[in-house]
Amino acid sequence: MDYYCLAFYKYIPLHNPHEEIREQKAYLEQLDAKSRIYINHEGVNGQMSLRKDHALKYIDWMHSKEEFEDVQFKLHEWHEHAFPKLTIKYRRQLVALDKWVDLNNRGTHLPPAEFKKALESDEPYVLVDVRNDYEWKVGHFEGARLPPCETYREFNHYAENLKDEVDPKNTKVLMYCTGGIRCETYSSLLKEAGFDKVFQLEGGIINYGLKEGSQHWRGKLFVFDDRLSVPLCEEKAEVVGKCHFCEAPTESYYNCANMDCNCLFLCCTDCLKKNLGTCQDTCMNAERLRPYSEQNPHKPFRKAHNYFSKK
Ligand SMILES: [Zn+2]
Ligand SMILES: [Zn+2]
Repeated sequence: MDYYCLAFYKYIPLHNPHEEIREQKAYLEQLDAKSRIYINHEGVNGQMSLRKDHALKYIDWMHSKEEFEDVQFKLHEWHEHAFPKLTIKYRRQLVALDKWVDLNNRGTHLPPAEFKKALESDEPYVLVDVRNDYEWKVGHFEGARLPPCETYREFNHYAENLKDEVDPKNTKVLMYCTGGIRCETYSSLLKEAGFDKVFQLEGGIINYGLKEGSQHWRGKLFVFDDRLSVPLCEEKAEVVGKCHFCEAPTESYYNCANMDCNCLFLCCTDCLKKNLGTCQDTCMNAERLRPYSEQNPHKPFRKAHNYFSKK
């Protein structure tokens, strides 16, 4: 495998994010790199794929910058680029939510080994997954709950209900997401709602897989690039995803071929063929249909990455 997929983020005040964007562009344009990097006054959130030697160069370069000298990079090997192009841009919020979140009161970071210990301890806890349901469907931690995270209102409503169910002052809340950045936002919201013992998985599921393997995890990890889902580690993972139509086990995601729907759904190959790549009858009869091709299923993030609000 000749490439590395990299994931990283750091919250740090940047006085001149546009200058940082220019520097990143200038540096990365000379490398074999594809990316989706967002930068603003609060820091950086990046995912990318690079030729292996170039990935190491980039990491060194980032670590030579004062603001980013301690950024943790999570690396996975891959046989080709996982992103369509080099994208580095300004985004108003690193984690999109319809509310400005004060990040000064976040949860406590737990390194993977401690997170695992907490999962195994007899002390009661609530385990919260702050990803989207389509991410959850192909894999998640055993015993985790999936609150609605699309809007602040939904999440806050969930937090208020949770307060009726458990004691917010004493109950341990363990939280996780893919790479750790979404927990910065959602742990802050939980603390704001009155929960005192909020712990978040440092470096996210990716980091857990790299350090601790797949214990307590079921299925695969959904990722926002061409790979769509990856195993957490080298051990063979059970398939927990189910076909949207027939419930057969599958972990293949497709975008509905109706371009005006374009929703992401899990589907087995038989049902995909039967439905010409669409998610429901009304979509099959829609006007703007992408031609269905068995050999070349549509790569969801090639054109549709902006359908995902939470990344
Ligand atoms: Zn099926
Ligand atoms: Zn559809």
